[in-house]
Amino acid sequence: MKRDIIVPGSVLGVLGGGQLGAMFAAAAVRLGYAVAVWDPDQDAPAHRLARYSFPSGFADQAVLAEFCRLVHVVTYEWENVPADLCVRLERELRVRPASAILRTIQHRVRQKEYLKAHGFPVADFVAVASMTEWQDAVARIGYPAVCKTATAGYDGKGQWRIAGVNDLPDVERAVSDSLPRGMQWVLESLVPFERELSVLIVRGPDGNCRSYPTAENEHEQGMLRTTIVPADIPERHAGQAQELARSVIEQMDGIGVFCVELFQLADGTLLINEIAPRPHNSGHYTLDACTVSQFEQQVRAVCGLPLGEVRLLSPAAMVNIIGDELSVVMDSEGCDALLSVPGAVLHLYGKRQIRPRRKMGHLTVLADRVSAARDKAAEVRHRLATVLPR
Ligand code: AMP
Repeated sequence: MKRDIIVPGSVLGVLGGGQLGAMFAAAAVRLGYAVAVWDPDQDAPAHRLARYSFPSGFADQAVLAEFCRLVHVVTYEWENVPADLCVRLERELRVRPASAILRTIQHRVRQKEYLKAHGFPVADFVAVASMTEWQDAVARIGYPAVCKTATAGYDGKGQWRIAGVNDLPDVERAVSDSLPRGMQWVLESLVPFERELSVLIVRGPDGNCRSYPTAENEHEQGMLRTTIVPADIPERHAGQAQELARSVIEQMDGIGVFCVELFQLADGTLLINEIAPRPHNSGHYTLDACTVSQFEQQVRAVCGLPLGEVRLLSPAAMVNIIGDELSVVMDSEGCDALLSVPGAVLHLYGKRQIRPRRKMGHLTVLADRVSAARDKAAEVRHRLATVLPR
């Protein structure tokens, strides 16, 4: 049977123009595609790589018409783009991953209920849409717990830790203030994990599916700080994580690139924290350490091309450059110190505004062994923290 391929030369539409959209666009352009970027923020990095740039709100009907006219397939670079827009686009275009998947994933409660209903392991949780449900949730989940907004949270935003009863009033106030505005929340048990893992899955329209090696992640204040790959765990455990991630995406019938974030408990048990329906920060190492990057895979998967190799060419570590740390890179001494780390590769996202906790770029370091990659990541972090701008 002839494959239904969207060939180079076609126009790929991407909703959202942040760094993930920009890295997708760079991969698409290298493969001979043109990219149409739709992001309300005119400074969004992906606009610079776009042949067609739409810095308009997602409700703009004129842009919708033009986008549909130009574009051959649509994808998105983050899960907070409007699912209704994807439903509308789907009337005329292929949207990959499908809008139904986006709708499930972009709402934490829907996502967790989906996973639970299909027998996948998740932490205990209770959905909260009223103060009665809140009281019930606190009674059922107990302490320690994490309270998260059901929508629009990312990088630890919209998330509160509740260590014990003393932390309750502040969170309760935030919940009760927001409920009249239609906000929903989820209260979940704080998982005493041994480590956090993630697995990138690539799946094409023909159901062909590949998994990158299991990676190990370290977060700070809910935000990814460092990824080490391959995870320094027994092969059997790494394989279990890959299998679990693959079975979730197969269950969803997902087309595209997905990241499944996992908690691993001391006894090896895995729980799914969340799924991203797009390339992920913990997969940035694939740009420098794999045959084919997660962004090229996104292009291949949404276009129905053969999927690329997921081979890891070298152990690697990725360190995010966050907020003010960019000033270290922009300083001649700091830049010199960082790029002198053997095996270091720098990626900056070209964001104009530095804000606290904003991801400004990342560094990947390659090494012969995982332990050496870990040491180099520690060295990069040390240099980011201590080399002060002049
Ligand atoms: P999330 O936005 O849900 O991915 O959360 C960001 C980070 O917060 C996670 O990667 C964990 O480090 C931490 N976190 C979130 N939920 C939990 C939980 N239920 N138990 C322990 N840590 C959590």
